[in-house]
Formats: sequence, C-alpha cells, structure tokens
Amino acid sequence: MKTLKPNFVEFIPDVIGDDTLYISMKYKTVRHKCVCGCGNIVITPITPNDWWLKYNGAGVTLKPSIGNWGFSCRSHYWIINSAVIWAEEWSDKEVKIKREKDFNRKKTYYKDIKAKKNAKDGRFFVFFKKLYATRFKSIIQKILHQNLIIKKLGGKYGNI
Ligand SMILES: [Zn+2]
Repeated sequence: MKTLKPNFVEFIPDVIGDDTLYISMKYKTVRHKCVCGCGNIVITPITPNDWWLKYNGAGVTLKPSIGNWGFSCRSHYWIINSAVIWAEEWSDKEVKIKREKDFNRKKTYYKDIKAKKNAKDGRFFVFFKKLYATRFKSIIQKILHQNLIIKKLGGKYGNI
C-alpha cells in the first residue's frame, strides 16, 4: 500500500518530492504530488469548507477524499493515516452534482457567518441603546434642555 510521509513545513517548497504530504499549518494548506504518478501537484486547503486534517503523531488523515477531476488522470483516493486508499472514479455527472453541492454548502456557510455577524452587530447596537437609555439619556436631555433655554433667552435678550 502506498503511503505519504507527512512533512510539516512553514512554507511549501517550490519543488516537492514524491510520496510526501507537505503540511503548512501556518498557511492552512497541504500539497502533494498526485499519487497516480502523473506529476500534477494537488493543493488541499484546510478550511471548514474544504479539507480537514487529523494527525495522530505518525500518520495524517485528510478528509474528504481527493478527486483530481481537473487532471487528465482523474484519480480519486483517500488519505487515511498516511495510506492511500483508491476510490472509484466518478462520472462527469457525479462530479457536477458534487461541485454543485459543495458550492451550495459554501454559500450557506458564508451566509450563516454573515447572519451571525449581523446578529452580533445588532447586539452591539442594542448594548449602546440600553447604555443610552440608562446612563446618557438624562445627560443629553439636560444639554438639549440647556440649549433650548439659551436659544429662548437668546431670542429674548439677543446674543448672550
Ligand atoms: Zn494523477
């Protein structure tokens, strides 16, 4: 069984060796040469929406599977505990469905993040509204009231 040696690096080198998984935790990316031997470089970003990585001190697991549909080899495999497990080739139709699913999942993910951010901003606004209501309202009213008196007086007695 083919295995890929994990190599933890800060920067992925320009020339990458065979049978090695270059893992940059800093840049949240993993690269390796396609395991079919075609020589293409496979880049798997580590994000909540792309791949996740598990390291048990010896072997690395990357999920989900790696489907190199953009390469002529169209290889499809899993990397489980650094071992390459071949998976079935997908038809163009299956790839299209999977890509659409991925696209929709990502869209929902970013929509949720935006909604959470808006909710947080909303809470921030509510916090200031409460603060205004409890603390500053009377101060601001006093200032406004004084201005009003000054204006009234100003109207009566000219500029003071
Ligand atoms: Zn290949």
